[in-house]
Amino acid sequence: MKEYDFLIVGSGLYGAVFAREMTNLGKKCLVIDKRLHAGGNIYCENIKGINVHKYGPHIFHTNDKNIWDYVNSFVKFKDFTYSPLANYKDTLYNLPFNMNTFYQLWNIKSPVEVEEKIKNQVKEAGFIRPKNLEEQAISMVGKDIYEILIKGYTEKQWGRKAIDLPTFIIKRLPVRFTYDNNYFNDKYQGIPIGGYNKLIEGLLKDIEVKTGVDFFENRNELTKLATRIVYTGKIDEFYDYKYGHLEYRSLRFEHEFMSIPNYQGVSVVNFTEKSIPYTRIIEHKHFEFSKLSETIVTKEFPQEWKPGTEAYYPINDDYNNKILRKYNELVKEENNVIFGGRLAEYKYYDMHQVIASALVKINMFK
Ligand code: FAD
Ligand code: UDP
Repeated sequence: MKEYDFLIVGSGLYGAVFAREMTNLGKKCLVIDKRLHAGGNIYCENIKGINVHKYGPHIFHTNDKNIWDYVNSFVKFKDFTYSPLANYKDTLYNLPFNMNTFYQLWNIKSPVEVEEKIKNQVKEAGFIRPKNLEEQAISMVGKDIYEILIKGYTEKQWGRKAIDLPTFIIKRLPVRFTYDNNYFNDKYQGIPIGGYNKLIEGLLKDIEVKTGVDFFENRNELTKLATRIVYTGKIDEFYDYKYGHLEYRSLRFEHEFMSIPNYQGVSVVNFTEKSIPYTRIIEHKHFEFSKLSETIVTKEFPQEWKPGTEAYYPINDDYNNKILRKYNELVKEENNVIFGGRLAEYKYYDMHQVIASALVKINMFK
């Protein structure tokens, strides 16, 4: 008889949802995380009353009422509509791509004329079915928007040419022929009142959590503790990189405290020129409409993942997907290990998708 039913490696959303639901079913769980705090990438640090999104700006959005009710059962969410701006050569444009953006760029007010202009630019580009991110972007918004708002941002964000990236990355973004700056199409959108840590605290309430514990530093001992393992770390690391390293994008954050109440007037400004080394500036207080007289801003610098840095974004291009398929063959052979979340599934999941995928997996144990 083992001490725990589940050893859960990683206290991000996947691990926390899994631990909560299994505990509710009467199973004994131990959650470990190599970081010094729980929460994975949604963790916030409260600095002088401002919830600083330590691992990048997070806005919860979903179309699924069950998922929305689920997160709201742990902490109430405040409605928030994400409307970032894009800065290109010191001129501001609205995002996502909508009539405001088209008007700012082309001075055209009529949706019909805008659609016609885009159609002509797509026709000039001369491809039938988009094969890569560049072609997909042009097919959505035409060449002008692609050149100023997408190409530079995308190539620095991913460290690869847009022609070498998959189409799905840009399909995330809405294109609208109305004057509507809402970055998401989802019905439900918000920020937890009091910050994301409240969500994690709710999920992990009364569950044993050990932070500062790296699974690989004590793999054998930890494995012996539980009947099953839920693993949410990097899949290639689990198999000791035997089929080679999967590539990830990493990020470096520069936080700055400022003795002014309002730096940029909006939560996020994207910098779409390639020559500017950061992709966005985040002003955290605007996620929660804080009235403090100080502010904290963060510059987000993309970089290639290398040992010693954090893996943030999987790069699901052909090269990496081929390696992933080999690791997934090994996963099929595992009886007592469940692989879940952004790093273990190597998937560009949003928060609502991670929660949904953990809940689906849990159904298998009911
Ligand atoms: P993670 O949060 O990465 O958790 C994995 C945990 O496992 C980590 O805490 C890690 O320390 C731990 N771990 C790894 N290896 C080990 C080990 N060997 N031993 C012990 N512990 C280990 N989603 C949205 O819906 N809206 C957004 O606006 C949004 N913005 C984002 C912005 C950025 C910059 C990024 C990177 C992601 C964003 N996301 C957003 C996605 C969101 O962060 C993820 O969907 C979600 O946090 C993934 O949860 P997870 O549990 O899979 O992974
Ligand atoms: N993107 C872009 N310009 C922008 C914002 C996004 O070209 O101003 C592209 C870029 O390739 C990015 C993708 O759209 O990786 C998805 O954007 P999203 O805001 O969803 O990225 P995330 O928040 O996941 O980093």
